[in-house]
Amino acid sequence: MEVSSDKPNLALATNLVHGSEKPDAQFGAVAPILVRSKTYQQPEFGADSKWKYARGTNPTRVALQDKLESVEGEGQATVFSSGLAAMTCLLLTLSPGDHILFSTEIYGGSYRLLDQVFNNFGLTFSFADFHDKAGVLRAITPTTKYLFIETPSNPSLHIVDLEIAGQISRESGVPLLVDGTFAPPVTTKAFDYGADTVLYSLSKYFSGHNDVIGGAILTKNPALHERLKWMHGAVGAILSPDECYRVLQGLKTLHLRWERVSQTAQRVASYLSTHAAIKRALYPGLASHPHHEAAKRQMQNGFGGVVAFETHCHEQDKLKNFVDELQSRGTIVYAESLASPETILSYPLHMSHRAVPPEDLKNLQINAGFFRLSLGFEDADDLIEDLRRGLSELG
Ligand code: PLP
Repeated sequence: MEVSSDKPNLALATNLVHGSEKPDAQFGAVAPILVRSKTYQQPEFGADSKWKYARGTNPTRVALQDKLESVEGEGQATVFSSGLAAMTCLLLTLSPGDHILFSTEIYGGSYRLLDQVFNNFGLTFSFADFHDKAGVLRAITPTTKYLFIETPSNPSLHIVDLEIAGQISRESGVPLLVDGTFAPPVTTKAFDYGADTVLYSLSKYFSGHNDVIGGAILTKNPALHERLKWMHGAVGAILSPDECYRVLQGLKTLHLRWERVSQTAQRVASYLSTHAAIKRALYPGLASHPHHEAAKRQMQNGFGGVVAFETHCHEQDKLKNFVDELQSRGTIVYAESLASPETILSYPLHMSHRAVPPEDLKNLQINAGFFRLSLGFEDADDLIEDLRRGLSELG
């Protein structure tokens, strides 16, 4: 796959389809070339060659990294075997005693990685409310190496105002790292707000078809990029060529999928927000969301497919009936994860956030009645009808 340098200022939709790609030189193949070879013939003894061993580099992986760079428009990309592998490699560039300041809510697996793995190697972390600028500035210590925000956050869809986060980063000199898994570059370009580095789980919207686990980091810091490129080969946290190929395919429809799920989620969130069985419905596109205005500013092309809600009922047997009824219709799947063609209902207490301590879960209001719903591509009326039937179990 060759990289073209003569495609300036293309609209995002065009970039998602074409980006850095052009038909390959050997066959003229239009779809990306999938190269599975583990090793490469060295032309002669003692000579250096670009392709050596696939843990180090691979043409399909390079094609994906180039494509991510052209879609994001800034930064240098490295891809990893999962979103958490991306985060692991990033944390491995730090040293014992370093501190990371997170926004109030993050994915439970990220929490577990810090709390149960990197804590043992001397990394420290804490949380701050990034809407309280003075509070964040106070929480920064001389050892703080990153301001690490997740927006929208998993699972409650908290929004961190990127303008404020960017200002804090500039004033403190601490680089801003954004986990943009819930706001891919079709809707938010975190670099525009002063982010130094962005991280994505490619397992979600980028691939989008329930068949990939992957992660990516794009950074404007060339030294960090070099270190990450080295690190993912050194620890072996690489993305396989097949997964890279699937993400390349997924990227071609990212904007279409994002628009579709954003429309469906908006309708479903509105429905849930007025339903008698629902205590609170959380979606950045709802006017009732506490940071709806910030979401409108920084999610410029839709709010995505994830809605969270809490039912008034917290009784386990009734909640089981609710989930059973939903699943019995065969449309909504009860499962982990999000951003699939299929609508997925998740229960963060048992799934994404099971490793988070009870006290923190309580503060985040992730409780027995709390669900996360990731809307797929089904017909919105069918989904609303399923939810209506399911929720009648909670009456
Ligand atoms: N970041 C966020 C916001 C997530 O929701 C997830 C997974 O759900 C991750 C990172 C980790 O990604 P992966 O599952 O690809 O390791």
